[in-house]
Amino acid sequence: MAKRGPLNIISLDVPPQQDSLAKFLTQSGTFREGDLFVNKDGIRIVGNSGVDAPPPIKPLDDQISLADVDVIKVIGKGNNVIVQLVQHKWTNQFFALKVIHMNIQESDRKRTAKELEINRSLECPYVVACYQCFYQNNAFYLILEYMDGGSLLDFLRKVRTIPEDHLAAICKQVVKGLHYLHHQKHVIHRDLKPSNLLINHLGEVKITDFGVSAIVASTSAQANTNVGTYYYMGPERFSEETYGARSDIWSLGMVMLECATGKFPYAIPDDGWAATYYSVMQTIIEQPPPRASPDEFSPEFCSFISSCLQKDPKARLSAQQLLEHPFLSMYDDLAIDLASYFTNDGSPLTTL
Ligand code: ADP
Repeated sequence: MAKRGPLNIISLDVPPQQDSLAKFLTQSGTFREGDLFVNKDGIRIVGNSGVDAPPPIKPLDDQISLADVDVIKVIGKGNNVIVQLVQHKWTNQFFALKVIHMNIQESDRKRTAKELEINRSLECPYVVACYQCFYQNNAFYLILEYMDGGSLLDFLRKVRTIPEDHLAAICKQVVKGLHYLHHQKHVIHRDLKPSNLLINHLGEVKITDFGVSAIVASTSAQANTNVGTYYYMGPERFSEETYGARSDIWSLGMVMLECATGKFPYAIPDDGWAATYYSVMQTIIEQPPPRASPDEFSPEFCSFISSCLQKDPKARLSAQQLLEHPFLSMYDDLAIDLASYFTNDGSPLTTL
């Protein structure tokens, strides 16, 4: 189980006969979107012919279910979200179990199923693996690759700023993850921010929460209360209904600049959630894009940031172009050791 495989597929109850999302959720807690069935036992993909074409059941050691794991401790909490460290009973392997409580409505169910379908298919060393999903008692359960260093947000709080040479090594991994999402999978993350970049003792940095935050944000009151989600959004996100992959590039620039300077790139007044949301939107739309100061940072870093932070999405570089940016390779000779940096400079990594 140490190696990432496709999301495990577990046999389900008799699938519902309805093909409309209006009848999405059955009494057994199973729902269907296209060829995807989800219930408390997991996800099953069926062929276009629906119930007639069940996939082969995976070998037992490929499956993970809630009954197979022990909860070790809570490692994170958010709005209606709890993340626990869990251990697989038979293999002793650790996972992060993310539980998202939601009173799910029909339209959200449809979107959620689509997001899960995408999440399941992501397989990249720079994206946190999602091994299994469940839906049970108004909550989604995601069994994720466990990242023992926590999030970049947690790390940043400890170290305050990240020196450029280390930031280049971090940034390179994030750009590779974005390159995979944008150019290989043709998907947009939509919520790149420091808490969605996870680190581990191997010095790895991985993008997480693909689709998840979008689901949470669009569900019930979350859209208004979870203002943090808006801080890293490009200006076009507030005005245009459709936006593209370059919107993630803006977020990347904001995150990297924050890591370098130790503060959020815009000064935004904090006067309650409604005003704050408005202030965030107004600031991002009206202010000039933030820049890295040439007095403090290398020309390469300043150029990288301005390649990301262009108000016109078309003027931003793509992930593919950013991979070639000199900032990402200028410190290669130093052979930066992120493993010891994450272990020694932050908190001790999450202990078991
Ligand atoms: P947020 O709502 O801040 O984006 P989440 O709700 O996804 O964050 O997770 C809360 C915290 O749980 C994260 O900041 C991180 O410290 C921890 N966490 C989330 N996923 C994992 C994981 N796969 N491995 C280890 N820790 C995780």
